[in-house]
Amino acid sequence: MAEKKDHYDDEVDVLLVGAGIMSATLGAMLQALEPGWTQVIYERLDGAAQESSYPFNNAGTGHSALCELNYTPEKNGRIDVSKAMNINEKFQLSRQFWSNRVENGVLTDPSAFINPVPHVSFGQGEDQIGYLKRRYDALSANHMFPQMQYTEDRDQFARMLPLMAQGRDFDAEPVAISWTDAGTDINYGALTKQFLDSAKENGTVIRYGHEVTNIKREGNFWKVSVKNLRNGDRKVTRARFVFVGAGGYALDLLRKAGVPEVRGYAGFPISGMWLRTTNQELVAQHQAKVYGKAKVGAPPMSVPHLDLRVVDGEQSLLFGPYGGWTPKFMKKGSYLDLFKSIRPDNIPSYLGVAATNFNLVTYLVEEVFRNFDGKMEVLREYYPEADPKDWQEVVAGQRVQVIKPTAAPRFGSLEFGTALVNDQNGTIAGILGASPGASITPAAMLELLERCFGERMIDWGDKLHEMFPTYGKSLKRDRAAYEEQWAWTQKTLGLDVERHLDGQGTAK
Ligand SMILES: Cc1cc2nc3c(=O)[nH]c(=O)nc-3n(C[C@H](O)[C@H](O)[C@H](O)COP(=O)(O)OP(=O)(O)OC[C@H]3O[C@@H](n4cnc5c(N)ncnc54)[C@H](O)[C@@H]3O)c2cc1C
Repeated sequence: MAEKKDHYDDEVDVLLVGAGIMSATLGAMLQALEPGWTQVIYERLDGAAQESSYPFNNAGTGHSALCELNYTPEKNGRIDVSKAMNINEKFQLSRQFWSNRVENGVLTDPSAFINPVPHVSFGQGEDQIGYLKRRYDALSANHMFPQMQYTEDRDQFARMLPLMAQGRDFDAEPVAISWTDAGTDINYGALTKQFLDSAKENGTVIRYGHEVTNIKREGNFWKVSVKNLRNGDRKVTRARFVFVGAGGYALDLLRKAGVPEVRGYAGFPISGMWLRTTNQELVAQHQAKVYGKAKVGAPPMSVPHLDLRVVDGEQSLLFGPYGGWTPKFMKKGSYLDLFKSIRPDNIPSYLGVAATNFNLVTYLVEEVFRNFDGKMEVLREYYPEADPKDWQEVVAGQRVQVIKPTAAPRFGSLEFGTALVNDQNGTIAGILGASPGASITPAAMLELLERCFGERMIDWGDKLHEMFPTYGKSLKRDRAAYEEQWAWTQKTLGLDVERHLDGQGTAK
């Protein structure tokens, strides 16, 4: 009997779905490790970084737990710093990878994607101040939280955060801040584009306006069906390894591929809004990212913050995110996304989450009905004299939180972190969830390499140590290693700036 012939139009070693920061980072790593491997990227939209990685679809925070209070929960009067240490260590790997790629000429202009912006935590009222002081005591003792300063003094507060001090009644409600200059603002869109420009120069084929519609296993390959959205043409690309960097659509594609590791998983979309001002008089008086405490029921990534953003050479202020809800899984997605993602195996997960997340539902309903004036009121907790004429509403990116199947009686639990998923053979992988997201992409992709290309890690050892000089070391314990990599990345990424609580900024 004649053997059935495989039907496919072309063949590659690595196929990446989506042109966001995740695919761009993994593509850059694999290109450095295996320059001979062929790569193709399929992206449904007409350009790179148009969804969550677009600069104003996210907050641009280089998450390293310097200011985000949800990474340091308090349990029985003790601040738990383990999550903060873990995220900070991962962010150091990001800085190392970016620095290495700058030195190799892949990333051409660090100031276009990373800028030093102080990270500040803000407490209002006695309870929050007590917590903030205990958090400061717990973190500032460790070298990974350098130059951390703390004050409850209103004059110092006014010098450091003049915009937030204007019109503030310090007698009615005391405030405190902790401050560090070690923070950054990151334009993940610019970073993605610099990676992809270099990838293209080095042979990666990038096809925009091409949607991956199906992924099926065939022998040692994946057959990936692709539709050209510009002319309707369809084709099949055969790939040895597939990365599903499709953001909110990743779960759906991994399920289509029949990856057993995502059986029972479901997605819960949460949208967001910002208030933004480009008034340079206001911007000049707020040169920091200031994070406060989340409201009861609010998902951890919806903690309000007033952020200096540096995007395409322009500074602006972004406040939010305000939570919202739509059934879309992508900002440029379809209202049918949620409906289409419901399958018999994930119905219990959905029902379990609906029944046990009453606080989240209440929070989202409140947020959905908050109009522009309501949003201004929330902003005034940070900037009491905020004037509506300076601020515009901007729609943020879409997040799809992962619902993991669990045992009865809960059936499903809502996860707020980032989850890496891969099949047992390590031939397909994807990233689910959104936080801390883009900031720790290199660490997530390093874990992907370990899981999917484990047998090659020894051969790749030298190159990996060039990209990640502290790979395998515990930075929270090894002060010398931390400081050495810090000095190198500060210099290579052009981040050497120091400010003090007297309000003076000095470049080193
Ligand atoms: C409101 C908000 C604030 C955030 N703030 C921060 C922050 O401050 N710091 C931080 O580190 N992270 C933050 N994040 C998270 C961060 O934005 C994401 O983790 C990151 O951008 C995800 O990158 P990605 O490449 O996986 O996804 P995306 O950038 O969404 O890229 C996925 C791409 O896949 C494409 N695609 C989807 N399906 C297909 C298909 N079938 N075929 C072809 N292409 C497809 C999409 O069009 C898209 O371009 C925030 C996110 C949101 C929503």
